[in-house]
Amino acid sequence: KDLPPYRGRFAPTPSGPLHEGSLAAALASWLDARAHGGRWLLRIEDVDGPRCQSGAAEEILRQLACCGLLPDEPPQWQSQRSALYDAALARLIDGGRAYGCACTRADIARAWAAQGHVHERHAEWVYPGTCRPERGGLAGRPARAWRLHTGTAGSPASLIDWRDRRLGAQWQDVAAEVGDFVLRRADGCWAYQLAVVVDDAEQGITHVVRGEDLADNTPRQILLQRALGLPTPAYLHTPLVRAADGEKLSKSHGAPPVDLTDPAAALLRAAQALGLPIQGMLHPGAGGHLPDLLGLGVSLWAQQAEWVASS
Ligand code: GLU
Repeated sequence: KDLPPYRGRFAPTPSGPLHEGSLAAALASWLDARAHGGRWLLRIEDVDGPRCQSGAAEEILRQLACCGLLPDEPPQWQSQRSALYDAALARLIDGGRAYGCACTRADIARAWAAQGHVHERHAEWVYPGTCRPERGGLAGRPARAWRLHTGTAGSPASLIDWRDRRLGAQWQDVAAEVGDFVLRRADGCWAYQLAVVVDDAEQGITHVVRGEDLADNTPRQILLQRALGLPTPAYLHTPLVRAADGEKLSKSHGAPPVDLTDPAAALLRAAQALGLPIQGMLHPGAGGHLPDLLGLGVSLWAQQAEWVASS
């Protein structure tokens, strides 16, 4: 069987500079692309205006370049790609797979309460389907957001079985566990789920390598790919980098920017966080020449046999 040539990507949200965790994710996607002899692309995920910080995208590109992680094609910016997202949403609406929703958070909580559910998670996350067309739709109210119709809970269409290259077999009933998720938000921003699915397909991405914190988004993305008739890439979710206190490193938890005074040392720490066997090299000055270090990283990565061979 002829497989399409490997195309991978790193897709940071420019909500701040890279921290140790996001550098590890960048390195993992770069190493996997190189280990497959593939191409590595960069995509700036700046659709969520309120979360973006001015200058952060440029800073991320600078940090990556400083580590020798250079994209094979010019970076794409999601803020310049809304025509693509518009077209995808229009297709979903035409096909009866997306619908306008007038509900506020309070409406959603009330709808669950009326059914006797006070489960906070339900009120917060699962949309009760109030504005589904088969339940009367908007009934004259203005649409605030647009949602994907995820079908009937428990039906084969809503059950997503997928395999992660590291985590193995995974599954989720999207209608039951997530519900009809948002494609375009009430504030007009494109939702991450829609933008990432459209862009991964449009950029011909064959392999997605990203942090494990994003793994539970994958079933939604696969459902959306199917609704749009798009291919599903291979997925590999990498181990999370934790702070000394065991917390996940994230910008929202105030993780500091990665220290790049010695880029080789920063790459070694990232490689260690990914589980690459570089223990003996973690002393000052051991990083040496950046291109040599990256080359060594690729061969160590290629020896993570199941990750690479099973893709
Ligand atoms: N933009 C997302 C983030 O920075 C990652 C998207 C992805 O890799 O799918 O968390």
